Amino acid sequence: LAIVEIRLPDEGATLDFGAKLARALTGSEPEQVLLFSGDLGAGKTTLVRGLVSALPGGDEARVSSPSFNIMNMYPTDPETAHFDLYRLEGFPADDSLLEHMQDDRSLVLVEWAQFLQKEDWPEEYLLLEWQPAESGRTILLTAKGKKAKQTLLALA
Ligand code: ADP
Ligand code: MG
Repeated sequence: LAIVEIRLPDEGATLDFGAKLARALTGSEPEQVLLFSGDLGAGKTTLVRGLVSALPGGDEARVSSPSFNIMNMYPTDPETAHFDLYRLEGFPADDSLLEHMQDDRSLVLVEWAQFLQKEDWPEEYLLLEWQPAESGRTILLTAKGKKAKQTLLALA
């Protein structure tokens, strides 16, 4: 397990950090799972927007919160699968959702990861947790597994 704290003073910093994360991912193995844990208005979708737009092919992607359809796909290289588990609150995810989240040929981004039941968490992931902050945003990054640790190293 490796942990890093990031300060994001404003929305621009969140978008820039998303782009930095995209470069860190494409520099190693982008087919991994990123779990976003933060409340409504934390900036999860903003970060996804900054990230996806900086991926190969991502400048054309229209990123929005997939709250109603649960998953959006973006035509990046590799493909990005964007989940929003808000509607899961308190309920277990069904098997087809979990199967989609384990797609190892895609970059998988999961908003509201805190609503995943413990036993449904992937083996390896990069977790981004929004912390309470007086101003702007603070996120804590936790890497579990080799790929996620590489990504975290590339960010430092
Ligand atoms: P979520 O997907 O977590 O519900 P959104 O990304 O949709 O959040 O919206 C977050 C709101 O917070 C937006 O209005 C955005 O401009 C703002 N925001 C994003 N990052 C920051 C930041 N680092 N500091 C202050 N405001 C931010
Ligand atoms: Mg959102």
